[in-house]
Amino acid sequence: KVKVEGGGSLALYEPGTVSKTLERILLENELKRSVEQEYFQLEYQPKVDLKTLELTGFEALVRWNHPDLGRIPPDRFIPLAEETKVIVPLGEWILNEALAQLHEWEEMGHTNLRMAVNFSTIQIEEDNIVETIAQALQNHHISPTQLEVELTESTFVNKDEMSEKIQQIRDLGATVAIDDFGTGYSSFSYIKELPVDTVKIDRAFIRDLDENEDSKAIVSAIVTLANTVGLNIVAEGVETKQHGEILTSLGCHEGQGYYYSRPIEPTECIFFLENRIVGIQ
Ligand code: C2E
Ligand code: MG
Ligand code: MG
Ligand code: MG
Repeated sequence: KVKVEGGGSLALYEPGTVSKTLERILLENELKRSVEQEYFQLEYQPKVDLKTLELTGFEALVRWNHPDLGRIPPDRFIPLAEETKVIVPLGEWILNEALAQLHEWEEMGHTNLRMAVNFSTIQIEEDNIVETIAQALQNHHISPTQLEVELTESTFVNKDEMSEKIQQIRDLGATVAIDDFGTGYSSFSYIKELPVDTVKIDRAFIRDLDENEDSKAIVSAIVTLANTVGLNIVAEGVETKQHGEILTSLGCHEGQGYYYSRPIEPTECIFFLENRIVGIQ
């Protein structure tokens, strides 16, 4: 029997009845089976131009709808999918699904939108990742300039190898963003070391932007630096009108967060596609 433990970890069987190794093998199989049976689903969160309040595109976010476990959020299974490398076929499915969705919207007349897709560094390390991306773009008739690859540093990676892969992805015409900037392994030196287009400020700094001077100073410094070297800046976790206003005044370009919209299912996106102004400022 498979169940989710309250503490945030996934458990198969009662705690202690099977070894960690066996549990991992079982969960790995469960993940693989789910990729094959398409138990995964994507939600999309609107991104907004902070100056014009226009919709610029969406970020695709994966959900696991397990028949027994219910809906499992990505923070609970992405780390395991990375460890077991299931993220490679899963990531390919996610990319193709997101681009197929964008193409469907294009066919409906909703053109010039961008789709941001999260990639694990494990995926980027795959030898054929650039071909996989090029092929997906071609299959779904999407212009490379409409794709943004969002990268979070979760494991230590070889900077030179990563740089080279990022450059190859950009050579296709797609853009590359550093996700969750300011946390984990990512730091200011990244901007110099990795040839990215966009910096996505982690929501930890946005959350208390209106009451914490340190957060405001950090965001201000990131925005100033990014603007100086000509990078696009996106803030995630914009939850209030004040967040949006402060970010706009600091010179941040794009915003994304519950204030504009939660991640939503494709049918709910139609509202935003038909009313391209998203902010209610
Ligand atoms: P992320 O890429 O940084 O995505 C943003 C997360 O913040 C999403 O959580 C989103 O639902 C949440 N969020 C957006 N606006 C707000 C807000 O205003 N307030 C708060 N509190 N949260 C907000 P989600 O969907 O649970 O995803 C969590 C993480 O899982 C993602 O962080 C990403 O690192 C990973 N992930 C999600 N989908 C994928 C995927 O398709 N592939 C890979 N490799 N990783 C994914
Ligand atoms: Mg992201
Ligand atoms: Mg993020
Ligand atoms: Mg994140």
